[in-house]
Amino acid sequence: MKLKTEKDGRMFPFSDASQTIIDCLLSAATAANARLLLNRGVERAAQRADDGFELTLSNGDKLACDRVLLATGGCRAAATGQIAVSLGHTLEPPVPSLFTFHIETPWLRELAGISVEVVEASVPGARLRERGALLVTHWGLSGPVVLRLSAWGARVLHGLNYRFPLQLNWLPHLDAEAISGELHSRRQTQPARFIGNAPMAPLPARLWEQLVLAAGIPRDTRWATLTRAARHSLIQQLIRTEFEVTGKSLNKDEFVTCGGVRLGEVNLKTMESRICPGLYFAGELLDIDGLTGGFNFQAAWTTGWIAGKAMAAR
Ligand SMILES: Cc1cc2nc3c(=O)[nH]c(=O)nc-3n(C[C@H](O)[C@H](O)[C@H](O)COP(=O)(O)OP(=O)(O)OC[C@H]3O[C@@H](n4cnc5c(N)ncnc54)[C@H](O)[C@@H]3O)c2cc1C
Repeated sequence: MKLKTEKDGRMFPFSDASQTIIDCLLSAATAANARLLLNRGVERAAQRADDGFELTLSNGDKLACDRVLLATGGCRAAATGQIAVSLGHTLEPPVPSLFTFHIETPWLRELAGISVEVVEASVPGARLRERGALLVTHWGLSGPVVLRLSAWGARVLHGLNYRFPLQLNWLPHLDAEAISGELHSRRQTQPARFIGNAPMAPLPARLWEQLVLAAGIPRDTRWATLTRAARHSLIQQLIRTEFEVTGKSLNKDEFVTCGGVRLGEVNLKTMESRICPGLYFAGELLDIDGLTGGFNFQAAWTTGWIAGKAMAAR
């Protein structure tokens, strides 16, 4: 399949159509003489006394097999992981990954549509810190940096009920001293200009103006009259704006589940169960989740490949 890579490393089919992926997988299955039984869900899987498994299908048919690969997808519905549980496995409770943040701060919402190429976002106390592009939306914040925080922090943010403080450093490439020097030099070179009208690159003008106001500096303040205390407050605002996140939304329609079959119960070299020999796992059913941009698909296909190889060799 012909792939294309976006600027940020995310990969997609060149056609931009998921059908290309379906066609690719189906033609590989046909070439390998796989037999597809469609519209017959597996209702139960039981270990046979001698060896192997017996599957009960939704139309009542039974199917005997030596080995089973479970690839039933993310455990959003409790039923999805039940076959694994019935064969002795434990599920890490499912929680969503890849979501955006709700923030009610009025001045932020006024900036909906603005993006900043690189910010550093962190959740104090949760050891979460990411850098990347940020997008202000009409409900709060989104963009790659937020999605990354939501993925790496899926479990801890769920534990906080999606209510937590978020700190943003709008100029992560500069330290406080460099920013202080820049503000000082503006005081010298453009004393009569209004501070709110003179954004520091690369911050968009509207964002800069709101950050100046949020630092408690009135709109009609000129560089010449910026006090030491106000300068300190502006630097703090630039490197440590704090917002209160009050909830989450899904990113477009994307929904990835963090949680699933516990990884310690699976031999990751073969994807075989450590509990039930002959049983294998692949894909989102496992407690694996990745960032947007194909990494979940990659995880599904890689684990499927490893499991398939090991099953054929067994
Ligand atoms: C809207 C949406 C957008 C996404 N976008 C991205 C993206 O851009 N990039 C990315 O990397 N990931 C994305 N993901 C996640 C990605 O789709 C999954 O991680 C990936 O499909 C997991 O593959 P899988 O084979 O493990 O499970 P699935 O693709 O979920 O397939 C599991 C299959 O098993 C079947 N099944 C379940 N139970 C049974 C049973 N008892 N008997 C028979 N069949 C059964 C299901 O019907 C399903 O067809 C997205 C997910 C969603 C929902």
